[in-house]
Amino acid sequence: MRNHLLRQPGHYLFLLPAMLVGLGLWWATPADEVGSPVHRILPLVLTCLGIGLGLIYNRVRAVCLLLAIALAFAMLHGLVGSFLNTGAVTALTPLLFHSVSLWLPLLFALHGLWPERGRLRQDLLLRGVVSGAAVGVFALLAAQGPQGMHDLLSDHHWAWLPTGWSRLAQLPTLVFVAALVGLGVQALRQPRPLHTAMLIALLVVWAMLPRVFLSPALLPALASTALLLIVSAMLQESFHMAYRDELTGLPGRRALNECLQRVGATYTIAMVDVDHFKRFNDTHGHDNGDDVLKLVATRLAEVGGGGRAFRYGGEEFALVFLDRPAPACVEAVEAVRATVEATRLQLRDRAARAQDDAVGRLQRGRGGGGTVVQVTVSIGMADHRAGDDAQAVIKAADQALYAAKDAGRNCVRAHGQQRPVAVRSREAAQGSASR
Ligand code: GH3
Ligand code: MG
Ligand code: MG
Repeated sequence: MRNHLLRQPGHYLFLLPAMLVGLGLWWATPADEVGSPVHRILPLVLTCLGIGLGLIYNRVRAVCLLLAIALAFAMLHGLVGSFLNTGAVTALTPLLFHSVSLWLPLLFALHGLWPERGRLRQDLLLRGVVSGAAVGVFALLAAQGPQGMHDLLSDHHWAWLPTGWSRLAQLPTLVFVAALVGLGVQALRQPRPLHTAMLIALLVVWAMLPRVFLSPALLPALASTALLLIVSAMLQESFHMAYRDELTGLPGRRALNECLQRVGATYTIAMVDVDHFKRFNDTHGHDNGDDVLKLVATRLAEVGGGGRAFRYGGEEFALVFLDRPAPACVEAVEAVRATVEATRLQLRDRAARAQDDAVGRLQRGRGGGGTVVQVTVSIGMADHRAGDDAQAVIKAADQALYAAKDAGRNCVRAHGQQRPVAVRSREAAQGSASR
């Protein structure tokens, strides 16, 4: 749980633009207006932008939620606008308002929790048909008996249910609570920015609805905030996809290249390679190999001395120390090598899980059987003095890595040094990757 994504501040970056735009809009709109044309158009611009992004990145759920918020905004904007112009609400306004209060959380729950499956077009069509049919049937029933529908939506049906704290009617309140619980569980179990954003957007919508007639300026401000939460989360996820390694969660090769373009005059690169990893995979299976890579990545991410860890590719990692020559990084690098060596991993019993599944058994190799294993890493270091540019320094660090392998593995070597840069452990000479 220590490394759970929801505990990492970086997970919530998408909140920043949404909050800034929401606060800016609210501040710039007179309290008793629904805003200038720019304020009114912004939510629709955000919706179009978000739908475009959603289609590019196959985020069908986000597309549907953006449409739901935009439609609710357009409907409420008309109702509040006419209220401000005439000073009175029309006969249909209460029914329409309660309908929006019921359908927004329903659509959030439906599309937010419905997993994205199949082709984009089919998925979109199916969702459109299901939600369109449901809303259509509801609209037909409401048209036939508007008063009955209004009473159903606005009455306090169950006196024993404590819903008095909510400014919405009982039925919409219960649907909001249920949708929030569903999206909350999803955000906890499958942590990703979009899931957290859907949950917070629903909270924002809930805060907005009961206030739109009292403080009309909140309507464009909070609708834009909810839309921007989803759009920013999509952008954050796409950035993550491009720059993060999916298996280990470390920044990947692209992020390393960008980091190296910005290095100053003094820096050190350490190349880290898991020892005898092919043998490990052959013995314990590829899935257990993946678990080992994740564990090694976690240890490397904790490197001291201001170092940053990247997954270079395969079972190779890179540590970059900005503004430090190699001698100043030796201690941190040696510490990280020793930490990996000291770490024990209990393999999951994948063989038992795949007992009745011949295919699974084939794919998972020989399985772990709960064995405790240990891996070691070899590290080669080089600093800015080893080459004219960062690529040359990486090559030099690679040569030092070969020297570390030649020296028996589980040790650190610096470019141009024949002797170990730090005291090696007893087991280093054995060069064992797992036992
Ligand atoms: P050395 O000590 O000399 O580095 O030997 P090695 O076996 O670690 O090196 P080699 O290059 O022969 O093998 C690397 C292995 O790493 C082969 C490949 O199957 C494995 N590998 C690369 N990427 C992954 C991955 O993402 N997951 C798993 N499980 N294995 C990987
Ligand atoms: Mg290798
Ligand atoms: Mg290796």
